[in-house]
Amino acid sequence: MSESHTLHPQRVGRGSHADMSTTSTLHPQEPGSECKDAKAATLTLRLTEVFFSLQGETSRVGLPTVFIRLAGCPLRCRWCDTPYSFQGGETVALTALLAQVAAFGVPTVCVTGGEPLAQKNCLPLLAALCDSGYSVSLETSGALDISKVDPRVSRIVDIKAPDSGEEARNRWENMAHLTPQDEIKFVLANRADYDWAREVIHAQKLAQVCPVLFSPVQGELQPASLAEWILADRLPVRLQLQLHKVLWGNTPGK
Ligand code: SF4
Repeated sequence: MSESHTLHPQRVGRGSHADMSTTSTLHPQEPGSECKDAKAATLTLRLTEVFFSLQGETSRVGLPTVFIRLAGCPLRCRWCDTPYSFQGGETVALTALLAQVAAFGVPTVCVTGGEPLAQKNCLPLLAALCDSGYSVSLETSGALDISKVDPRVSRIVDIKAPDSGEEARNRWENMAHLTPQDEIKFVLANRADYDWAREVIHAQKLAQVCPVLFSPVQGELQPASLAEWILADRLPVRLQLQLHKVLWGNTPGK
């Protein structure tokens, strides 16, 4: 990737360093915040990377966003594009992570993975980001409980289609917790996946609850084919292509 595409050269995580002394106007000191800060200082997370890029998906597509990619995932989707997040990562204090995010000076944050909810301290991280004034989204596999996520967070919840190999992991109880600020995402590999997703949407009346996103598996399903199927069925979903891959390919951290 050429340097001209690099919106912010600073990438934090996996051994790189942020300027921890940087303060942000997104972090006003409120009464009682010392207590919260003391608690946050004791919490840690396993972090794959923190990076700054354009949001590639969801209704926030195109927005400059700080991404926090937490390490680990209990699923193994056949077409996963972030297997480097499955293992490793560095242990970071929640307070240090907040400082890394603040250093970018951007109001929009996306917590992703891996499966971020597989770490119990993801919940206090999300709450702390909201408390700090960020607009926060969470990308989750749909296999874990989303009900405890801070209600200020926009939850992007996958529903795993059969060809992912992880259909059995879908936690259908999550559907009852969705609100209009959340979004449902299907990643589809073929026509059978599409037909399955269409039936799920009808059966669960998902399009009446929140936006529904359809993404084709890159290199397996032609985006134009998926577009034609959606149009033919008048399906109330949004086709989305991953903007970051259009711009930068499969570059990690972009
Ligand atoms: S849930 Fe996400 S990170 Fe985990 S294997 Fe599936 S696509 Fe990859």
